[in-house]
Amino acid sequence: MNTEEINCMVEQQLSIWPEARKNFDALTLIGRKPLKIGDMEVIAQHNPARIRSTGAKTDSESIKKRACFLCSVNRPGEQISFQWIPGWELLINPFPILPIHFTIVDKQHQPQDGIPLEMAIMAEQAPDLAIFYNGARAGASAPDHRHCQAVLKSELPLLKIAEKNHTSSLPSIVSSESFNLELPFNFISAIITPDQQGMRNLVLMSKIKGVDTVTGKPDADLVNAFFWIDAAGFLRIIVIPRRAHRPHCFFADDENRMTVSPGALDMAGLLILPVEKDYERITPELARNIYDEVAFSGSLPEKIISE
Ligand SMILES: [Zn+2]
Repeated sequence: MNTEEINCMVEQQLSIWPEARKNFDALTLIGRKPLKIGDMEVIAQHNPARIRSTGAKTDSESIKKRACFLCSVNRPGEQISFQWIPGWELLINPFPILPIHFTIVDKQHQPQDGIPLEMAIMAEQAPDLAIFYNGARAGASAPDHRHCQAVLKSELPLLKIAEKNHTSSLPSIVSSESFNLELPFNFISAIITPDQQGMRNLVLMSKIKGVDTVTGKPDADLVNAFFWIDAAGFLRIIVIPRRAHRPHCFFADDENRMTVSPGALDMAGLLILPVEKDYERITPELARNIYDEVAFSGSLPEKIISE
């Protein structure tokens, strides 16, 4: 699937879905401001249409009460299901963060239960895209229906950091701690070679868990993952182990409240703020704090490294 085919699908979808078209057009007008956090360039994005995702109630009670918006029977009539990888449907995200923004949905209604290995096939089939995954407690607004998403890989600052600093002279799986950069959180980076060792590394990466800051227990739902093909043609993977679903400010009931719920794109350097006053208030220090509360700014826990 090349850029031309991707653009064709987006155009085909938007030509018959005015509401989605409105949200795509609005993307050109929304506020963006750069926040430099150490060696990472983050862009804060004021995106009001994302409120339903950022503010989504994802506890099991609330999930049980609502109709699953990823199941085909509940989707808007205008939404086209493009056939792509067997077992999955490719949809245009009607509430985009970037002009190319797909949701890739399992045909079966089953919960997010770990990083899908099919993401490797998806990345290979669409070398312009980064395929990414939000664990059930790491940004997924539909934790009850297995899905991943895709955007153009060129849009994500974190991927560039991995490509530049994880060179082929390093082991094929490394922690970003070895980059000697000042990053707001650490992650695991892999270069997957097309051999048996590469296959083993692929499986190993898909099994990485986060560690819950409250219970101290490993949790497969506390991860974000990215799969993409790099300039040399190798499959690359980043997994970000998380320690919390949302930062404290999300739950504050005073002036410190911020509606921010980091998922994979926020972690990759696009911090989404649906509420205008949050966007106006955000500074590199506040953003650093948010990242620190949901991921590991210091060393990754021994549990993660040893596994
Ligand atoms: Zn569903």
